Amino acid sequence: MTWRGDGQVGIVHLYPTLMGTYGDGGNLKVLARRLAGRGIGVRTVTVGPGEPVPETAELYVLGGGEDVSQVAASRELRESGALGRAVESGAAVFAVCAGLQVLGRDFEVAGGKVEPGLGLLDATTRRRAPRAVGEVLARPLDGSPLLTGYENHGGGTALGPGARPLARVVSGVGNGAGGPGGDGSEGAIQGRVLATYLHGPVLARNPWLADRLLEMATGAELAPLEAPWVEQLRAEREQYARSGRLSAESARARR
Ligand code: GLN
Repeated sequence: MTWRGDGQVGIVHLYPTLMGTYGDGGNLKVLARRLAGRGIGVRTVTVGPGEPVPETAELYVLGGGEDVSQVAASRELRESGALGRAVESGAAVFAVCAGLQVLGRDFEVAGGKVEPGLGLLDATTRRRAPRAVGEVLARPLDGSPLLTGYENHGGGTALGPGARPLARVVSGVGNGAGGPGGDGSEGAIQGRVLATYLHGPVLARNPWLADRLLEMATGAELAPLEAPWVEQLRAEREQYARSGRLSAESARARR
């Protein structure tokens, strides 16, 4: 399959049956809609376990998942090497939560086993306690609008010098390495690989992030695109995250 240069943006949805918790599949819909809304063709391919990963798409998307399924996804991706080759030849990758962990150097799963990751992000994940659960607000380092989303993870991720955070946490946990607030970072960027701990789906709540990914993937600057309901949704989530009701809710979830 050769997509690059054919006028359509190729997006590969990796293992949604294994990795797609908390509506992460919605991220694909947002990406496709934001291309179509600008009259840009898009071809989305879904890859299931055991199927080959096409290497010539512009963007690869990996969602969150439970420990067992993320280990399965990680092993398949490591064995095939296809994602690494696609990144080497210029593709972008977007990953959420377990996806972020899988892209790192290694990650620890429940029970203490450390599993090698893909090494596309200079990041290592170890178990943390308590589990990070709840709404998150984070301020992107590049001055983009506040990032809003939902987190639920038992791993905490430390970034090495090769990766930089996507944002600084305003409320919630984010990467959370080593325990409660971690180092206050959220997500990671390394070249054209971008990852976050946030569900939501995060691209529905933060369309600017969808556009940033599409620009990374295509190298083109995209025209602005209105999504009238988004500001209302964002304001609602921001208010909720700041209201304090959230901490009570997280505390209940941790009991
Ligand atoms: N299994 C991972 C963890 O608990 C990721 C969870 C997720 O993707 N929501 O840290």
